[in-house]
Amino acid sequence: MIAVSNRISRPAKGASPGGLAQALSEALRGSNGMWIGWSGDFARPGSDLEIERDGDITFGLVDIAEDTYHRYYEGYANSVLWPLFHSRPDLAERTPGDFAAYRTVNAEFADAVAEAAQPGDTIWVHDYHFLILAEALRARGLAGTIGLFIHIPCPPLDVFRRLAEARTIVRALTAFDTIAVQTRRDAARLAECMAATAEGTIRTSRGGLRVDACGGSVHITVKPIGTQPAEIRRSLETARPAEVEAYLARAAGRTKLIGVDRLDYSKGIPNRLLAYERHLEGDRSRAGSTLFTQIAPPSREAVAAYAAVRTEVERITGRIVGAFGDLASSPLTLLTRPLDRVGVAHMLANADIAMVTPLADGMNLVAKEFVAAQDPHDPGVLVLSKYAGAAEEMVDALIVDPHDLDEMAAAITAARTMSRGERRERHRSLAAVVERTRIERWLGSCLKDLAPS
Ligand code: ADP
Repeated sequence: MIAVSNRISRPAKGASPGGLAQALSEALRGSNGMWIGWSGDFARPGSDLEIERDGDITFGLVDIAEDTYHRYYEGYANSVLWPLFHSRPDLAERTPGDFAAYRTVNAEFADAVAEAAQPGDTIWVHDYHFLILAEALRARGLAGTIGLFIHIPCPPLDVFRRLAEARTIVRALTAFDTIAVQTRRDAARLAECMAATAEGTIRTSRGGLRVDACGGSVHITVKPIGTQPAEIRRSLETARPAEVEAYLARAAGRTKLIGVDRLDYSKGIPNRLLAYERHLEGDRSRAGSTLFTQIAPPSREAVAAYAAVRTEVERITGRIVGAFGDLASSPLTLLTRPLDRVGVAHMLANADIAMVTPLADGMNLVAKEFVAAQDPHDPGVLVLSKYAGAAEEMVDALIVDPHDLDEMAAAITAARTMSRGERRERHRSLAAVVERTRIERWLGSCLKDLAPS
């Protein structure tokens, strides 16, 4: 098998691999496979696919020319596809030449895969960076199974239609044999977008949907991704970082709320801060008995919409701290830098309430990590947006609409006053979801779909 993703996680580069990277590495080890991705370098003239062995995994490293990379990555992928797929067409920013760069990168990756592949190899492609890769691979004669996993949400048809390249992309999608998405909602939306754009048909097939269009036939399946609960529990056995200890001393006796996200407009960070402000406005004495910590390292800072949401988050934070803090303490802490995995696990484990309130999200792993990190005997409460993919399964969270600030403020109150019995019952159900979808199981299920029948 050959896996393809934009970023790869190379231990030799000191990468601390996330759950997906670890699981993928395991699978590739088992299948004698290769993982192809961007080398992290800009192209040197005439550079070919560079092969690097790391332990028993083989990486295929692709250089991309600097200007092409920016147009493809910050440009088409993150200024057009990401906002559109997250139902924010208002934030899409098109620059002439960006789609051409996206096409170039897909073609260059197709060349790399074609160079590395043996006849009949299975190719497993990841995410919105490579929606048109299968078509380029077929053009290079690859005949094996080609699968795509889309990590982000799929947009409804009326949003997808606004994409100038909608037809081109749908035609290219029909070159995949199978496309897996996070939720049933995404599967239905993707099938509708494809069928409506390319005058195709949809039918149910083997527990999923099948779209026949442009002479191709694509099986769409639902594979909700998960986390590694055992790994999180192991992290909790290691000593708490000094910074977390100091935080716990400061937070002693208060209800601790937590948010952990990349600083992305899709995460609904302003909305949850505004809801918290409303909660404090309801009774000013709450400011002394609560501490909300939002960890939000900036991401994709070259894209204007990301700078804008950072400014907004900092503005609201400043207002809350100014209005509700005093000389002794503050009810809100904002950290705009990353914390390491162990630190995040301890922060999640010690929180009473997790605020996971995206406006759109493929899955949202923080929701699952919070549940995995909590003490089942005295668990905290998950406040979860109905727009997170996770909400399709984690129905025993306190489900909220992040656009409804009153509802979210009420959910914070409900979480603070929830009986231990109810918290345990909800946690039991949520923990079962986390176990059922843990990353190894997700991987096994994806690989089964990709296996030649
Ligand atoms: P996305 O992939 O859109 O960033 P997810 O919630 O699905 O969102 O996954 C994010 C992953 O990154 C989780 O494993 C989470 O623990 C980690 N993460 C998110 N925010 C931070 C942060 N501020 N510091 C460290 N790790 C983070």
